[in-house]
Amino acid sequence: MAEPELVDVVVLGLGVGGEEVAGRLAEAGLTVVGVERDLVGGECPYWGCVPSKMMIRAANAVAEARRVDGLAGTAQVTPEWAPVAKRIREEATDDWDDRVAVQRFTDKGGRFVRGSGRIDGPGRVRVGDQVFQARHGIVLGTGTRPSVPPVDGLAETPYWTNRAAIEVEELPASLLVLGGGAIGLELAQVFARFGVRVTVVEALDRVLAVEEPESSEAAAAALRADGVEIHTGVKAARVEHGAGGFTLRGTEGEEFTAERLLVVTGRRAHLDELGLDTVGVDASGRYLPVNDRLHVTDGIWAVGDVTGEGAFTHVAMYQASIVVADVLDHVRRADGGADPSGTASVVGGAVGSASSLAATGSSGAAGSVPRADYRALPRVTFTDPEIGAVGLTEQQARERGINVQVGFTRLSSSARGWIHRTDEVGFIKLVADADQGVLIGATSAGPAGGEVLSALVVAVHAAVPLTQLRHMIYAYPTFHRAISDALRNLGR
Ligand SMILES: Cc1cc2nc3c(=O)[nH]c(=O)nc-3n(C[C@H](O)[C@H](O)[C@H](O)COP(=O)(O)OP(=O)(O)OC[C@H]3O[C@@H](n4cnc5c(N)ncnc54)[C@H](O)[C@@H]3O)c2cc1C
Repeated sequence: MAEPELVDVVVLGLGVGGEEVAGRLAEAGLTVVGVERDLVGGECPYWGCVPSKMMIRAANAVAEARRVDGLAGTAQVTPEWAPVAKRIREEATDDWDDRVAVQRFTDKGGRFVRGSGRIDGPGRVRVGDQVFQARHGIVLGTGTRPSVPPVDGLAETPYWTNRAAIEVEELPASLLVLGGGAIGLELAQVFARFGVRVTVVEALDRVLAVEEPESSEAAAAALRADGVEIHTGVKAARVEHGAGGFTLRGTEGEEFTAERLLVVTGRRAHLDELGLDTVGVDASGRYLPVNDRLHVTDGIWAVGDVTGEGAFTHVAMYQASIVVADVLDHVRRADGGADPSGTASVVGGAVGSASSLAATGSSGAAGSVPRADYRALPRVTFTDPEIGAVGLTEQQARERGINVQVGFTRLSSSARGWIHRTDEVGFIKLVADADQGVLIGATSAGPAGGEVLSALVVAVHAAVPLTQLRHMIYAYPTFHRAISDALRNLGR
């Protein structure tokens, strides 16, 4: 067995969260080994957020051009997929090559190891023949993979997950999308706008089921307007694939056919691969439970999708800043004793200087590491209209026994919505805690729903009193001005 190599920290998985933690700890002067088996950067830049939003940008341009009719004359649009695929290949992903990302990490002083790593006892990580002993800790940023339902026959077919859908160079004539969550709807709308005959099949009784029912209605209406067929309440029983493409059969005898099948029914962490048993951590759950400083257990932190706290890049980045601060705090305590001023340099050569620690932006002082707080977790479904949401839905708030007040307004009844004309489904919905006099949740659906959301995120995050929200000035005629109408309607 190879002699373990002593380092400060090992980061397993260099997706969004792991890369951020590893890079910042290396910049702080720690000896950091970053292990990645696939591409540094993870799902978001290569098969997730970035390329999917490039596709959406292109599809929205097509849709906007089609709106010229009736507003500004006539326009003929001939959508072509080739420029979209080229942009994804060349600009977003470097043809799915991570050389730039690897160098970004090594330029910060990190040591990169390509391979699949697993924990091999306390503080120890094994990657093939290499074994590292981490003096200060291990950070797990191993993300998730698509969760494919156990539908009869499915595993034997060449179904797509998000990766094939993002990499596609030539569009199929027709596409079945199994799963009506955010990713399924975003991709369904894109492909429909490029002329693919798209059918969405969802097991629950509405698409976008984790959001407000009004959001589900808005998304479904918008997609149907783009020609997407939506079938809810359909439980997939069997999938077949042959020369004619895919056939999906539901438990009630429903039948859908298409050239391609995209399965987007959620994602799951693969904890069983991480060697957690060697450190006494239960690996049987769907995700890795963490506390509010992202500790899994002594000397092990987790970050990003693997924690199950929200499968979003902004959650991974938010958690990463807490992990960085906490690891550095831990290093100070371990090497120099608690140092409330945060100015002591770490002994043992692990940290070069006090200023390098300060440069990480961590608060420095022991005990002042920020705690994770997900009350104001924002999420945006980038359909057109965009559907942004923060905090609790009305139903979640009622289930918690909160004295709920709801305020609702349609964008079409606001000046900007009326001027815009093309948005019939946009709305603002506010969920307030009437006893506390603050917003605890909100949804903003509309042409810039994700941007309008920012004001609502601040309101929920900072618990801005409703009285203050009612007495501030909202620019006319913006989409966000509809927030003041929804506030007026609270409790009505
Ligand atoms: C189609 C799609 C669209 C999305 N759009 C958005 C969006 O618009 N906005 C948003 O906020 N989020 C979006 N997301 C979610 C976002 O991509 C994830 O939340 C984010 O990538 C999570 O980062 P992570 O670091 O936790 O994990 P990942 O990005 O999954 O990275 C984990 C990395 O760990 C590596 N790894 C795993 N196990 C090991 C091991 N044992 N050894 C070595 N390496 C390992 C993997 O290869 C992977 O590179 C989207 C996701 C998809 C699929």
